[in-house]
Amino acid sequence: MKYGELFLLKNRSNIGKNNEIVILSPIGLRHVLLFDSISDLKDTYLHKGLREKLVKTIQSKGIKSEKILHAIHSLPRHFFLDNAFEEHAYEDKAFPIGNKQTISQPFTVAYQTQMLQVKKRDRILEIGTGSGYQAAILAMLGARVFTIERQEDLYRKTRNLLDKMGFERIRMYYKDGYKGVPEFAPFDGIIITAGADQFPDELFKQLKVGGRMVIPIGVGESKRMLCFSKDEEGKSEIVQEGGRFRFVPFLKGVNRSQT
Ligand code: SAH
Repeated sequence: MKYGELFLLKNRSNIGKNNEIVILSPIGLRHVLLFDSISDLKDTYLHKGLREKLVKTIQSKGIKSEKILHAIHSLPRHFFLDNAFEEHAYEDKAFPIGNKQTISQPFTVAYQTQMLQVKKRDRILEIGTGSGYQAAILAMLGARVFTIERQEDLYRKTRNLLDKMGFERIRMYYKDGYKGVPEFAPFDGIIITAGADQFPDELFKQLKVGGRMVIPIGVGESKRMLCFSKDEEGKSEIVQEGGRFRFVPFLKGVNRSQT
């Protein structure tokens, strides 16, 4: 099988008579999407063609990492959006995912991931699971992913989707992301996918010495993308400064489901 390709396999004996799709991630990990369990989700050649265009767009905006481009090429983004937005899934835009939250723009996902410099088997903590798309991209790069969401409805919906897509190994938490997951610290990388107006000290404590924390931060609506690292004394230093981005806010506390 070829690197980063989608394959439609028919009538595999261990799966029964249902079709399945196997996604090979850029580092050769195998993710199996079962069509019987996600019967309303189909990944067609049209979708794949649209993904190819999306990859070219992202590349033209400056993303160079082949692994990240392969991951975006392989992962069906339309699975992470409500059906009503399916036709827009491969535009390089953020879209609503319910609970007043959004799935990040693909370029932003690629940009933050590139800044994080993920290596295989790195332990990565993501704050703001949202649709699960960013978490799935990290998993496809071979990271061991821990991700936190403060909206209970979104947490449940996304857990369900990620399980069905074969991403059961992504560890998800419904809690306030400012607190991190101290029981699994230290992390090689921390990525915050909501706009912060203050430096998250508690999270930074959970970063390894030499690790990277990518965070959109600043006052006002548009945030500066920064990458901090931790020195031997535990102090933070800015190791990379990126462009400006808009994000939904990094809020404190949790939001319980109303249902
Ligand atoms: N990474 C997501 C982007 C989601 S938007 C994706 O790929 O789709 C940002 C998410 O951060 C929202 O779902 C929002 O509810 C969540 N969020 C904001 N503040 C948070 C906090 N304190 N803890 C955990 N999640 C938070």
